[in-house]
Amino acid sequence: MTESTKYLLTEDRIPKRWYNIQADLPKPLPAVLHPGTMQPVGPDDLAPLFPMALIMQEVTTEREVEIPEPVREVYRLWRPCPLYRAHRLEKALGTPAKIFYKYEGVSPAGSHKPNTAVAQAFYNKEAGVKRLSTETGAGQWGSSLAFAGSLFGLEVLVFQVRVSYDQKPYRRALMETYGARCLASPSAETAYGRSVLEKRPDHPGSLGIAISEAVEVAAQRDDTKYALGSVLNHVLLHQTIIGLESMEQMRMADAWPDVVVGCTGGGSNFAGIAFPFIGDGLRGGKKARIVAVEPAACPSLTRGKYAYDFGDTGHMTPLAKMHTLGSTFTPPGFHAGGLRYHGMAPLVSHLKELGLIEATAYHQTECFAAGVTFARAEGIVPAPEANHAVKGAIEEALRCKREGRSETILFNLCGHGHFDMQAYIDYAAGKLKDQQYDEKELAMALAGLPSVPEPA
Ligand SMILES: *Cc1c(COP(=O)(O)O)cnc(C)c1O
Repeated sequence: MTESTKYLLTEDRIPKRWYNIQADLPKPLPAVLHPGTMQPVGPDDLAPLFPMALIMQEVTTEREVEIPEPVREVYRLWRPCPLYRAHRLEKALGTPAKIFYKYEGVSPAGSHKPNTAVAQAFYNKEAGVKRLSTETGAGQWGSSLAFAGSLFGLEVLVFQVRVSYDQKPYRRALMETYGARCLASPSAETAYGRSVLEKRPDHPGSLGIAISEAVEVAAQRDDTKYALGSVLNHVLLHQTIIGLESMEQMRMADAWPDVVVGCTGGGSNFAGIAFPFIGDGLRGGKKARIVAVEPAACPSLTRGKYAYDFGDTGHMTPLAKMHTLGSTFTPPGFHAGGLRYHGMAPLVSHLKELGLIEATAYHQTECFAAGVTFARAEGIVPAPEANHAVKGAIEEALRCKREGRSETILFNLCGHGHFDMQAYIDYAAGKLKDQQYDEKELAMALAGLPSVPEPA
């Protein structure tokens, strides 16, 4: 067979519960700490920022969390998402490996992010919240939350990282089409944004700065809460719908992955596809290798330190133990804007420390080359972020070719690249450079990590 095969589930197969990996961890996640007291934060500490339902999802150790029916109702717009066997890509690579990919680009915003945006908007609406503030890197999260906000009647204010605000006007137009207000960050709207602009008026912005601005706005107003598109436990929980559907589709295909690959910015789409498989392995099922792929210009998992750090640059958030490049680190302005975050989800970091996942890093030009190979074989143009997963999967397939092994590879194609064609134009014109992060800045950012007493 040369055509790629599509595995579809009917709507009634949309999962009814998310999977919580905290139930199956061999060692519990280190506590999140209050930066003032260095004591574990309690639900009340987080209440100004998040509705209680989401705070409880942050800490629950129950294995399954019910997906509210109104959320499943919205999921029906695009879920279940298709899973494909990439026969044509296998042929193009001449590999004996079987390559499968789950495609999350069929959502209205074009990525996996609406899986959690819709859930977060629902719980905020239930709690009587009127307005959500958030940050966005590439614009994927901002447009996902704008979409979800419009469905549930919530106002949405988005701080978009300056470089992508300038590079991606169509993402902003999408957010505004859904009714959101979008500002370039650092902005003059917040005290923190103004303090950054004072020191450097042409600051390119970073997710860490945009988070500080969004948190500042939410902390000031009772009717406003903050929404984060990655990193937090509840976000990763919502994304497990990706892996849960994939499991059923792999069974339809009469196959099971030896390797699962995902790209990592804050870790949510990776967790989404990987956690259900990791959990299955921890409960005695077949163990797959799990590979996280990150950009070499912002390599938190492969080059960062596993330490307590702030989630934002302005140091308004609690301290979480994670792989971090330091909260003051500003990565260079490469095209996969969704992967420009200084930290990594605490759950993903914890699994790395436990040896349950691997991590690799690639430069952007080799990732774009992989994305073009994929597009020519399979027809879908991946988002620049997703190109990292494509690259990781292709490397695994080429290893199988060298070793003569017919392993099964599953990767998450977390979004399409239709709003990122300028990056493809630059790549085709030979204008994309492999950005190096500044070693000195990294050393400084790491030296500035908060000092946290070791627990007794
Ligand atoms: C936001 C985004 C990412 C990075 O975020 P994760 O939380 O690591 O998934 C990756 N790919 C796409 C398409 C995105 O929109």
